[in-house]
Amino acid sequence: MLVKAEKRFDPEEVIEEFEALTKDAKRVQTETLKKILKENSEAEYLKKWCLDGKTDPESYSTCVPLVTHKDLEPLIQQIADGSPLPILTGKPITIITLSSGTTQGRRKFVPFNDELTETTMQIYRTSYAFRNREFPIKNGKALTFIYGSKQFKTKGGLLAGTATSNVYRSEQFKKTMKEMHTPCCSPDEVIFGPDFHQSLYCHLLCGLIFHDEIQVISSTFAHSIVHSFRTFELVWEELCSDVKTGTLSARITVPTIRTAMAKILKPDPELADKILEKCLTLTNWYGLIEALFPNVKYIYGIMTGSMEPYLKKLRHYAGGIPLLSADYGSSEGWIGANVNLTRPPEMATFAVLPNIGYFEFLLLRDYDPKPVGLTDVAVGEEYEVVVTNFAGLYRYRLGDVVKVVGFHNSTPELQFVCRRNLMPTINIDKNTEKDLQLSVEAAAKLLTAEKLEVVDFTSHVDLSSEPGHYVIFWEVSGEASDEVFQDCCNCLDSTFVDAGYVSSRNVQAIGPLELKVLKKGSFQKILDHYVGLGSTLNQFKTPRCVGPVNQTVLRILCDNVVKSYTSTAFG
Ligand code: AMP
Repeated sequence: MLVKAEKRFDPEEVIEEFEALTKDAKRVQTETLKKILKENSEAEYLKKWCLDGKTDPESYSTCVPLVTHKDLEPLIQQIADGSPLPILTGKPITIITLSSGTTQGRRKFVPFNDELTETTMQIYRTSYAFRNREFPIKNGKALTFIYGSKQFKTKGGLLAGTATSNVYRSEQFKKTMKEMHTPCCSPDEVIFGPDFHQSLYCHLLCGLIFHDEIQVISSTFAHSIVHSFRTFELVWEELCSDVKTGTLSARITVPTIRTAMAKILKPDPELADKILEKCLTLTNWYGLIEALFPNVKYIYGIMTGSMEPYLKKLRHYAGGIPLLSADYGSSEGWIGANVNLTRPPEMATFAVLPNIGYFEFLLLRDYDPKPVGLTDVAVGEEYEVVVTNFAGLYRYRLGDVVKVVGFHNSTPELQFVCRRNLMPTINIDKNTEKDLQLSVEAAAKLLTAEKLEVVDFTSHVDLSSEPGHYVIFWEVSGEASDEVFQDCCNCLDSTFVDAGYVSSRNVQAIGPLELKVLKKGSFQKILDHYVGLGSTLNQFKTPRCVGPVNQTVLRILCDNVVKSYTSTAFG
């Protein structure tokens, strides 16, 4: 029997392919659109818009409307309910993805298929190939903080889970990680365990057991890495004891995890002593990652957008280990790869892969913008991304704002700016998630002198009294004086640069900003709440603005306030 030889993964070949694709981005986009429309020509949705077999970009944008998730929701629901009709795609959809829902406060159903796994692998391979040029790694392992979310069946019997879990369960994922010399050091039973607290503990333990083989520390979003090492600070003595005795802590109660861990955990008093000594000599855990994992080459995860506030802490844990920002994508599909590894992580850019979807862009500063194609965007401008993918989304407004900062050959390099319309308007203010982040960053500097840091933050627009005002919630690593917090509060209020906010504050059309300081552990409660709903740590993003629809999170916040301050910044 003739066995087809498996193609070996060659990073240089991947780069060559990427260069060829991006040199010809316009044609590749047209071809990709054609492929998507041909594959799905039987879909009812496309038939409805009377494309009549046309697959060119002009006919497509004339016939098919721009949509948001809300517009497609009833159709996706019909698919989830088991409709046998080809609603959005030619081939039936068998898996539904649940977006994390942490930015909007509501989880969304999104169709998923094998092509999305395929494009995920393409983006992983592409960015790895570029990373490998700057930071080559040899055979080894990765300490990867990943978790399989609970999967469930929809009413129609379709499998539903988060996009990351769908990918982690695929055979291609394991194969690709092996090819990239970064197989996860934890067994599957840990990754797919039913309790993320126990999985996290065991990820850390596996990391210690394989400490000298670990080449990369990673997670999808950087928050998860910071959260993991914050947990390490709390449980490190227990971990050391497990390593010393070869007996797993009683906190691990899931039998499958215990069995899997028993196969790799052996008594190693020498290693335990080494870890103990390292932990005791660190100052405030500075350089923890470097100290524990002597052969680690870099730390990898999404560090841009809502992850930027965690970079300071991540740098602290990393010591001298480089931080590399990961790619840009969503449950709706991947968009671009970080191929410029020399940029600082918060400045990462994403070169759009022109064959993984068809992309259009809406100019943000235009009131009624006409979408432009991938290769027609202008450097320096900000746009909302519109995606057409292989899994039944057509001209779908993603809700993300990106800035075009240059081109890689003929494909644009994007910088992530923020989610669109995250902060509701009180008067004529137009503050964004980014504005909030910058204001928190400025105010948090006032805590540095006290050797304190903002662990996490969120906001709320309080319209219960006239005029409405912003409330910012902070969890802080320790106690500060009322005077310091009052200064922070005034600083928060006065550093919003949006002209609409400043002028509204000046005439009291927006009331004074409130800073509410939360009990320690409040954001852990919010995370637990989302994980309880079936979300996963992989995709967790602290909601930066909590609206009235998100009553549970608002209640957690309000119930945990220990101190409140009202700004006096505008007299
Ligand atoms: P989810 O659908 O839950 O996976 O979340 C996807 C969202 O995460 C995107 O729409 C973006 O808002 C955000 N996101 C994904 N990748 C990045 C990135 N590289 N930088 C900043 N934000 C990102």
